[in-house]
Amino acid sequence: MNRPGLDQVLSQRLAERHAAGLHRSPRRLQGVEGPYGLTPDGRTVVVFCANDYLGLASDPRPGQAMAQAAVDQGAGSGAAHLVSGHRPEHEALERDLAAWTGREAALLFSTGYMANLGVIDALVGRGDTVLEDRLNHASLLDGARISGARLRRYHHADAEHLDALLQKDTGRHRLVVTDGVFSMDGDCAPLPALARVARRHGAWLMVDDAHGLGVLGRSGAGLLAEAGLGQADVPVLVGTLGKALGSFGAFVAGSRVLIDALVQSARTWIYTTAPAPAQAAATREALAMARDQDWRRDHLGRLIRRFRDGAADLNLPLMPSKTPIQPVLVGEAGQALAASRALEARGYWVTAIRPPTVPPGTARLRVTLSAAHADHHVDGLLGALGDCLPR
Ligand SMILES: *Cc1c(COP(=O)(O)O)cnc(C)c1O
Repeated sequence: MNRPGLDQVLSQRLAERHAAGLHRSPRRLQGVEGPYGLTPDGRTVVVFCANDYLGLASDPRPGQAMAQAAVDQGAGSGAAHLVSGHRPEHEALERDLAAWTGREAALLFSTGYMANLGVIDALVGRGDTVLEDRLNHASLLDGARISGARLRRYHHADAEHLDALLQKDTGRHRLVVTDGVFSMDGDCAPLPALARVARRHGAWLMVDDAHGLGVLGRSGAGLLAEAGLGQADVPVLVGTLGKALGSFGAFVAGSRVLIDALVQSARTWIYTTAPAPAQAAATREALAMARDQDWRRDHLGRLIRRFRDGAADLNLPLMPSKTPIQPVLVGEAGQALAASRALEARGYWVTAIRPPTVPPGTARLRVTLSAAHADHHVDGLLGALGDCLPR
């Protein structure tokens, strides 16, 4: 039998993606500074799709801390945490993260994707059940898959549906997992209701607050702080460091027992190189700024209101979000792509988000706001959206 070669099979798959308007490739920016990006053909655009909500990613302070630590200690840690890669910078950052989020302890992971895979796999396995919101981040769904536990998905932000699933479920341990702020929609999980349901059924609640940390709650401590939910209500908190903190990496926070257990069995923490100490030094600086500089959150809040008010005046199809994630629903992938290109021609960089990242028929422009933006940037974007969206 004559089997097709690898490139032959892949070319066919790629052609299908192209035909469906779903082909993706990285779009390069030569540089980004504050709200501005430089395109390869030398034009300046205003970036409205980064996760740099507080404007810290290109701030010189964390960058200087990183540069100094790199000069002192080099560019890499040299090994995994359990071997010889663990440094004072990692421990200091873990202490800062635990204090910020009001947890006993925290454990640093290389990325949020790895944190979610490692934590879910460490906590549950065969015979257990993971219950997840339908719109959870891909890494949370993948974590449930590799854990070997049974995966059940409840309707988006629907604590009653979760309640009904838990009622019927016979798993030995049950882990309820949700995004805090949903990454592609910008709305918030109903955490107090989810915590009540989880408690009633003796299930454990895990929240990934990647997009709430730095933005919501007092001192930017996130959606859990805003909702007043402590370690007893939400025993497993995951946060990422590459969104509002403008750095790179992730962490899990909770009881000392949880952290000790993860050190024993979270494979994506054990079998990987520890982040560079310089990266941790940068993150500590960014965390201090995110915690102490309320003006960034205040300004961001004003921009969110300005954008929503302006979009309502233009009858743009907004979603129910109070966060800096303000997606504009378009529908078909091709239309979203065309709108994104038209915006770029007008000087605004807003990537089209298409299936499979979002459900079919809900392609969107995922507009995000940042404390780096000024009022006139938002007004300009609104004008361009009014012109560029299909009507
Ligand atoms: C971005 C994101 C992640 C992944 O974090 P990385 O550090 O970028 O790997 C995980 N969960 C959610 C909800 C996210 O938005």
